Amino acid sequence: MTLHRPEFRNAQNSVMTYAIDDAFYRAAADDDVKVVVLNGAGKHFSAGHDLGTPGRDHHVPYDRRAGLWWSHVGHEGAESRFAREQEVYLGMCRRWRELPKPTIASVHGACIAGGLMLAWACDLIIASDDAFFSDPVVKMGIPGVEYFAHPWVMGPRFAKEFLFLGERVDARRAYELGMVNRVVPRDELESQTLDIAGRIGAMPRLGLALAKRAVNQAEDLMGLHSGMDAVFALHHLAHAHNVETSGDSVGGLDAKSMRNGH
Ligand code: ZN
Repeated sequence: MTLHRPEFRNAQNSVMTYAIDDAFYRAAADDDVKVVVLNGAGKHFSAGHDLGTPGRDHHVPYDRRAGLWWSHVGHEGAESRFAREQEVYLGMCRRWRELPKPTIASVHGACIAGGLMLAWACDLIIASDDAFFSDPVVKMGIPGVEYFAHPWVMGPRFAKEFLFLGERVDARRAYELGMVNRVVPRDELESQTLDIAGRIGAMPRLGLALAKRAVNQAEDLMGLHSGMDAVFALHHLAHAHNVETSGDSVGGLDAKSMRNGH
């Protein structure tokens, strides 16, 4: 599965979100699919959520799949924002994490903010040596992206540094922190990812599905699921504060102003 908006560094809009969901759905149903690999076309894996490309579609309604909450369209304020982000960000990432087949994020270049959510929802992360990761949303006054896995995927101590500084973490450091499984040369990313996928795919399907579920359950017992729910409320407190004080849920920052901080 390839994120394919390379002209916008694979910025994620809702069209992309539902295309990803369709692909995961088909992958789950297709007995010939053993493992799913998620990568990005172009120079980067993903620059995160779409904050301002011509294809930004956050006002457009869509068929909701992650939950039964009403549409964000036709509602106002925090009610609309909460409904939307619960569906397209937190709910969708949780849904993809539960796919009963192994998933591998094959990451090169930028993996920023919303891009982290796509990689983190996968089971394994294989990074090329040019990959880098950051979640600079504290600049917007927001305590991390909607799928708040930070303390579980990189440890609480480093999660604070990652959020407080908002700086890029390179693939090697991400490996040392346990956030990625392997770091490989850029020109070997595809072949090494496919090699690992092939070896996993040779294992029995049910064994893989149960092993995945076992580890996900353990991670939830370590607080991932309830922790993310708690932080989702803080995330929306921050959005609401931004609207009250500046009139804009992300404090008037766009993709360009976020990027200039690096
Ligand atoms: Zn948000």
